[in-house]
Amino acid sequence: SGAIRFEDVRFSYDPEREILKGISFEVPPGKSVAIVGPSGAGKSTISRLLFRFYDVTSGRITIDGQDIAAVRQDSLRAAIGIVPQDTVLFNDTIAYNIRYGRVDAPEDEVRQAAERAQIGPFIAALPEGYETMVGERGLKLSGGEKQRVAIARTLLKAPPILVLDEATSALDTHTEQEIQDALDLVSRNRTTLTIAHRLSTIVAADEIIVLKAGQIVERGSHGELLERG
Ligand code: ADP
Ligand code: ADP
Repeated sequence: SGAIRFEDVRFSYDPEREILKGISFEVPPGKSVAIVGPSGAGKSTISRLLFRFYDVTSGRITIDGQDIAAVRQDSLRAAIGIVPQDTVLFNDTIAYNIRYGRVDAPEDEVRQAAERAQIGPFIAALPEGYETMVGERGLKLSGGEKQRVAIARTLLKAPPILVLDEATSALDTHTEQEIQDALDLVSRNRTTLTIAHRLSTIVAADEIIVLKAGQIVERGSHGELLERG
């Protein structure tokens, strides 16, 4: 389960300017689709529509054949996991941050998720900038480590659908590789829609969609796109 379909979706934030100009694509269950294109093309808008932060102007978006306009917001949020590019941590332990949204998750499940995301040793720590009443100070986590917290949270939540918005910021090669490995872990066998910036993601995607000014101008596997030049 977890098939995503966009059917001739049009969208405008304001009536003067159409942002998505009739786009159709699908992500079959368990497959991964990467959306690439220049800044301003409408890539992030696609993920915002999938979450129903906004409703489509026309056309429709379905998950497992059901129009998301008819799906309750909480079911939609339960079905979709997101690993944002900038993970903001709450003022509480890393374990709490991993539990977020699943307060009732058993301790050992939280630990397991942390270990798989390779932040096991940090689970009792507080994030940087925070201090307990007894003067204990938070730990400085790198960007990659913070993203691993988000990944652990997603592993714990285990949603059928994953939306990844990759960082555009320059990361060093080591951090990039670390993040990529963790993302591979979380997206395996899960329907994945990625707003892609990393070459490794694009190469590994089952389909790449090239978006320009709100229209799909090219689509295919990495190999197919290379052949066509
Ligand atoms: P991308 O992710 O490809 O860089 P976006 O989907 O973020 O593109 O944005 C597509 C276009 O929509 C841009 O021109 C952007 O300025 C515009 N846009 C984004 N968010 C809003 C908003 N909340 N209100 C009005 N215009 C917006
Ligand atoms: P749940 O439904 O389990 O409460 P969500 O899928 O709503 O969880 O959120 C999972 C994670 O994604 C949380 O860290 C949340 O803060 C973050 N998140 C949710 N919506 C957005 C968004 N629009 N942009 C960035 N992060 C988000």
